[in-house]
Amino acid sequence: MLLVAKAPRLRGGYVIDFWAVGSDIAEKMGLIPRLEALGYSVREVRFVDRRGRKRGGFPVAIFRRLTGDRFTSLRRTDLAAAICGALDGRADMVFGDSIAGIEQEEKNGRVRLRFDRAAPREVDLVVGADGLHSRVRGLAFGPEAGFELPLGHHVAAFELAGYRPRDELVFVSHNVPGRQVSRFTLRDNRTLFLFILRDEYLAGQTPSSDRERKSALENAFADAGWECPEILGALREASGDLYFDRVSQIRMDRWARGRAVLVGDAAACVSLLAGEGTGLAMAEAYVLAGELHRNAGDYAAAFARYQALMMPFLLRKQRAAARFASTFAPRTAFGIGFRDLVTRLLGIPSVANFFIGQSVRDDIELPDYRF
Ligand SMILES: Cc1cc2nc3c(=O)[nH]c(=O)nc-3n(C[C@H](O)[C@H](O)[C@H](O)COP(=O)(O)OP(=O)(O)OC[C@H]3O[C@@H](n4cnc5c(N)ncnc54)[C@H](O)[C@@H]3O)c2cc1C
Repeated sequence: MLLVAKAPRLRGGYVIDFWAVGSDIAEKMGLIPRLEALGYSVREVRFVDRRGRKRGGFPVAIFRRLTGDRFTSLRRTDLAAAICGALDGRADMVFGDSIAGIEQEEKNGRVRLRFDRAAPREVDLVVGADGLHSRVRGLAFGPEAGFELPLGHHVAAFELAGYRPRDELVFVSHNVPGRQVSRFTLRDNRTLFLFILRDEYLAGQTPSSDRERKSALENAFADAGWECPEILGALREASGDLYFDRVSQIRMDRWARGRAVLVGDAAACVSLLAGEGTGLAMAEAYVLAGELHRNAGDYAAAFARYQALMMPFLLRKQRAAARFASTFAPRTAFGIGFRDLVTRLLGIPSVANFFIGQSVRDDIELPDYRF
């Protein structure tokens, strides 16, 4: 098996909540102790007003109760590194390269790959697990625009050392109409900042350079109050990675074409608004691998079964996430006040069950493949 990763190494990245179906796969892989060690046991989600006064929020223990204590928050790249570590050298890994061409030759039943850097080579199957803006999808299925459903928001994230104040293990968020800015304290004196903004607060297209990204955030959050002047000041000086992207879903009517198949965000991005894209990506990869194993060599049957098992489930997740979008950055002050009220009531178990109980339980029974 050959794994190709564009990044030169695994590092940084935003923090994700990890739970539900993802934790089932992590358990099958024996990863739980490692993920618990890498994760942050977040205590509270807190919504504050312009002056930093608490207006809403909930204890994260609610999620732990609803998931049977299967909830942690960790860096996406820490999770990726843990999964890579579990492969234990059983795959040939190439960092800092990318597939640049896919030629499927039916006559010899092989796929010829070209790379940005490495020499071409032939493989049996190609699995595109290269995220929302998948290049494999572009090469095998066509341009992104044919599959992307923008949800009307953009998201940005960056990290900084030494920021004050710190509220350990509390995810602190502040909203003004159409925008949300949050901070979360990390180990080693670092803080992660996350911005979500409705597209009407962004002049023009998704910015493509760090200079444009910083200026877009300055424009959108300059009047937002709370710690925004300090956060924007820190952003101005920051030299590390600044993540900035559209919040989109990928909707496709098939995930395989010939010997190429997609998993994760490449196939069916649910967006950050679903809060479980990572676990879903792992579940898709598990089912794809299981079906390839079970259908011993009949890759077309395996792809068909993988899609039949997972696509309806992913579509339900996507629809639920799209409906949920308005709660992240409510359009009006009334909407923010209502969201704050509901989150205050989430401490009551029956209210939590009603509002989020359904969404944290994954209504899918994964096959138990014996590898
Ligand atoms: C800000 C934010 C917050 C989120 N919060 C959560 C959360 O709380 N919980 C949750 O479960 N999910 C969350 N998500 C969603 C989650 O990150 C994704 O659903 C998940 O990472 C998808 O996994 P993936 O492996 O399919 O794609 P990705 O994680 O995007 O991984 C794709 C990989 O492919 C590499 N790649 C890209 N192009 C190429 C190429 N041409 N060649 C080689 N390699 C390439 C990338 O470098 C990357 O390493 C969040 C997303 C965002 C943006």
